[in-house]
Amino acid sequence: MRRKLAAGNWKMNGTAAALAELETLTAKGAPENAQVLICPPSTLISRAKDVAGDIISIGGQDCHANQSGAHTGDVSAEMLKDAGATHVILGHSERREDHNERDEDVRIKAKTAWDAGLVTVICVGESLSEREADNTLDIIGGQLAGSIPDGATGENLVVAYEPIWAIGTGKVPTLSQIGDVHDFMRARLERRFGEGVGRTVPLLYGGSVKPGNAPEIFAVSNVDGALVGGASLKASDFGAIIAALDAS
Ligand code: PEP
Repeated sequence: MRRKLAAGNWKMNGTAAALAELETLTAKGAPENAQVLICPPSTLISRAKDVAGDIISIGGQDCHANQSGAHTGDVSAEMLKDAGATHVILGHSERREDHNERDEDVRIKAKTAWDAGLVTVICVGESLSEREADNTLDIIGGQLAGSIPDGATGENLVVAYEPIWAIGTGKVPTLSQIGDVHDFMRARLERRFGEGVGRTVPLLYGGSVKPGNAPEIFAVSNVDGALVGGASLKASDFGAIIAALDAS
């Protein structure tokens, strides 16, 4: 059985007041059939952990490739873990675009995160022009091969398929487009890491997931949950997405 995961990425949003949303979500209790993860800004991780307790897992949104050192302004995997995080998102398209992160950078960070005992949520996804040129599977295949280190398991790795053109835009691929990419990712993971490992890695879809479209997305083959940006900021919206995953 694969783990189902509803992951919220708060991005650079949220001060202490935002913890009230987390408190509301936590008060609903843990869903029966799914794990819930919130990745707030690093400044809130420790306080978020205090609020979420064992009901909701807390993660970082990025980490440095090194565990410590002269890297002003950066945060290490060890620091995230120490603050209460169990997961870290790596290779989000906003990091790839804003900070020129390449697959190799993501791969090195992932290794460092594993060494610190964090589960990595590694993001892949094509641009609109790559989709229109019919290059989606080539792009995803390359990103999977380049961004995931050797040594992946169903426990230390989650993969999120996030088409760049669907993030924050309200546009969503068709269900068959999502299914094609997820089936492809599953096959690639099984080929590289063996069937036993490949079939246990949770695969998330991300890009404009909302309460209204979540149930149909969660019914797609090889979709084990979602990575949610905007709709994770409100407990009412994210709570509905969690409920849809729990019921799927
Ligand atoms: C994201 O940035 O990971 C994301 C999926 O954002 P949104 O849900 O807002 O499209």
